Amino acid sequence: MPDQTTDRSALRGDCAQCFGLCCVALPFAASADFALDKPAGKPCPNLRGDHRCGIHADLRDKGFTGCTVYDCFGAGQKVSQITFGGQDWRTGPKEHARRMFDVFPVVRQLHELLWYLAEALGLDAARPVHAGLRRALEETERLTRQGPEELAALDVAAHRQEVNVLLLRTSELVRASVTDAKGSKGRKGKGKDRRGADLIGARLRGADLRGASLRGAYLIAADLTGADLRGADMIGADLRDADLTDADLTGAFFLTQPQLNAARGSVGTRLPESLARPVHWAAAG
Ligand code: SF4
Repeated sequence: MPDQTTDRSALRGDCAQCFGLCCVALPFAASADFALDKPAGKPCPNLRGDHRCGIHADLRDKGFTGCTVYDCFGAGQKVSQITFGGQDWRTGPKEHARRMFDVFPVVRQLHELLWYLAEALGLDAARPVHAGLRRALEETERLTRQGPEELAALDVAAHRQEVNVLLLRTSELVRASVTDAKGSKGRKGKGKDRRGADLIGARLRGADLRGASLRGAYLIAADLTGADLRGADMIGADLRDADLTDADLTGAFFLTQPQLNAARGSVGTRLPESLARPVHWAAAG
């Protein structure tokens, strides 16, 4: 029986239980990630009547790379099946559909927070803040189970700020426990705090980034080939097109599947247990 607090299986998109919400509710701008413009609330032309994608097997070839990167953290099935009790937006009244599309991004943000909180509760080094993390997780889960009107009016940014205080403390505790090659703990050398750093296109091949804070760092197209990222805080790091070939992300935390999906990598990239190797990495290798 998995621990219901740290079990994150419900925090992954389950398209079979969702009414294709990400393909309707979200706006797209024509770019390298999406082949067309689409306003929020308008169904993507590739969405079929059964809420499945008509070009699922060819998304990248057809210019919809963004769809292979995205994950709703399980918000789609929660909004479809719990918030709206299984009532399809296609068959309900217009107002019902509009409300569903308003609520989906809100629940998605809350579910992303649940992902981090559940992960933090599974980290031994964060034990001093586990009580607070557990309360925050319960409160976040409660918020996700509110009705559509309450969810639409929720100040998610304020809740995120409160949770972030705990996640920051978790980060400090976990990174201070990271052991270096000589067995010393708490390596805090210069350059280890790269919060929000502009590392776009940076040459970090083979870099020692153990226990680093890469919170919100811009690592777009950075060369992280063979980099050692064990025990690094990856929350919000922009890894689009970053090269993680043969990098070691064992024990890296607050890393999400969409971040990995946006990066490049190889069969030699070592990943945290909770994340899957993106399918396109094998194709690229
Ligand atoms: S291309 Fe497919 S996955 Fe992407 S938004 Fe359209 S229907 Fe959804």
